[in-house]
Amino acid sequence: MPDTDEFNRAIEETCRLLRKNNGNKKGTLSLSPEVAQLIEGITVGSLPMPGRSEQSRQELTTESTLSTKSTSSTKSIVPVSPSELSGIPDLPALEEAVSQCTNCPLAATRTRTVFGSGNPHAKLVFVGEAPGQEEDVQGKPFVGRAGQLLTDIIEKGMNLKRSDVYICNVLKCRPPNNRDPLPAEVEQCEPYLIRQLELIRPKVICALGTHAAQTLLKTNETIGRLRGKWHFYHGIPLRATYHPAYLLRSPGEKKKTWIDVQEVIKVYNGEVVPEP
Ligand code: URA
Repeated sequence: MPDTDEFNRAIEETCRLLRKNNGNKKGTLSLSPEVAQLIEGITVGSLPMPGRSEQSRQELTTESTLSTKSTSSTKSIVPVSPSELSGIPDLPALEEAVSQCTNCPLAATRTRTVFGSGNPHAKLVFVGEAPGQEEDVQGKPFVGRAGQLLTDIIEKGMNLKRSDVYICNVLKCRPPNNRDPLPAEVEQCEPYLIRQLELIRPKVICALGTHAAQTLLKTNETIGRLRGKWHFYHGIPLRATYHPAYLLRSPGEKKKTWIDVQEVIKVYNGEVVPEP
């Protein structure tokens, strides 16, 4: 925890940068590592202040995360770190933390956060990319057209109920106009997903699409090359397959996803145990 002088220094430095960027309302600014480190030690209420000390420079938006008017506002200005979320004991508490998150600019444009839904003790977790328009309104993942296809994959393709599994996304807020997640957004939001998967501890994970697969597997490989084989996420077997939104655009690829989910269900049923 920083002392008062350090705290004041951090705030002064932040305000100086904000004043410098004042004309650039939607722009980003970078904090020096020292200042970022000081700020991340500050706690707000009972929730840990998100922070990420290894990060050499922190990108912040002047618009959504810091007030240029108030010099005393320190709310949610640095990213979440997995270690600080490890104290969050269950999914409802994590969902509450997510609902209050303002760590990246998507907080300013979202209607609702979309944490995840389904069985909190699910053996199978689907991880998608980010909420779309309908999800943003309802606060639930995969409730639009792609969601209907995902429901069909689960119910008709795997013979499970949607309520048997758990569904979430890499990003918990909708990117404007459904654009691809930015690397900085993934970096900021991923700790929530990491903790979510730690709390659920599924037997098998199905990554839907490039962004989910690349984020979970820490690779730049294409989904076409990632699908069709077993990977491991912290020891949990992970199958990557095409995103349902892509399948809506390219229905000819549906059979490949069908094959992928047949492999997933074998692991779900304990018929196959993939070896790392
Ligand atoms: N696409 C996703 O990746 N996630 C959703 O929740 C909806 C559409």
